[in-house]
Amino acid sequence: MASRPVEIACVLCLTLAASSAGAALRVVASTPDVADMARQIGGERVAVETIAAGGQDPHKVPMKPSFVTNLNRADALVVNGLGLEHAFLPGLLEVASNPKILPTGAAYIDASIFVKPLEVPTSQNRSQGDLHPLGNPHISLDPVRGKLMARAIAEGLARVDPPGAPAYQAGLGRYEALLDEKIAEWERLAAPLRGVKAVSYHQDLVYVAERFGLDMVGTIETKPGVPATPGHLEELVDRMKREQVKLVIREVAYEMPLARTVAERTGARVATISTMAGGLPGADSYVDFIEANLRALVVAVQGGAAG
Ligand SMILES: [Zn+2]
Repeated sequence: MASRPVEIACVLCLTLAASSAGAALRVVASTPDVADMARQIGGERVAVETIAAGGQDPHKVPMKPSFVTNLNRADALVVNGLGLEHAFLPGLLEVASNPKILPTGAAYIDASIFVKPLEVPTSQNRSQGDLHPLGNPHISLDPVRGKLMARAIAEGLARVDPPGAPAYQAGLGRYEALLDEKIAEWERLAAPLRGVKAVSYHQDLVYVAERFGLDMVGTIETKPGVPATPGHLEELVDRMKREQVKLVIREVAYEMPLARTVAERTGARVATISTMAGGLPGADSYVDFIEANLRALVVAVQGGAAG
């Protein structure tokens, strides 16, 4: 007991020392994916708070008062981009009173700037619904595009914090090397997915499909953000039977019972994946998230119990 005041005093000392040393760049990240990338690249130079949690649907993130406080104090904001945050971020930024992190501001870091979006709607084709108005925003599920996101984040951090530019460049170099190594492993791991026909709950696998050779033939949702209708489900089940689709991919934020019903009616297996880091147990980092998703898909394709 006698040592308590000393311990408290020491904690205060450390806190003061940290803040007087310029402390870390206060970064708010919209998703766990870009949060992890910012931490991997920025190391001790950044203190990152995250808005969305891994198991959530990024199109429906519940509000918390702390988000506004964090955004108000932020030195930088890192977003996935391509409208993924459309449901929650514009409203938060409106009340956060921090002009530099608005989309027009210097401290707004859009991780999607080097990624060419797929499924960009044209005026003749609004089939992707209102949730994906700028094209498919689920770019982070593909680790090769993840590397491009990391580069955008490193460049953004260097812009906001120029003295840290060499550190961010070095952090990016290390992270890209790690991703390159993992991507080579993942290509081997995911080999059984090549040519496999699948259905997902939400339209979020276009980049994964292109990377690893899955053949996506439909979604349980009628279109992104629009729930399944009985008519749509009948058509989907008929098509799955006709095309021998044996894999239903259910993202963890979406309900299992409907995915299971579709699978049971077609003799398919269900694989549960996440659309963001932190959505599956033990998969908090971006790297672990990609790996957990690929493993879940491969296990289901190979006939194991996936879940
Ligand atoms: Zn979506």
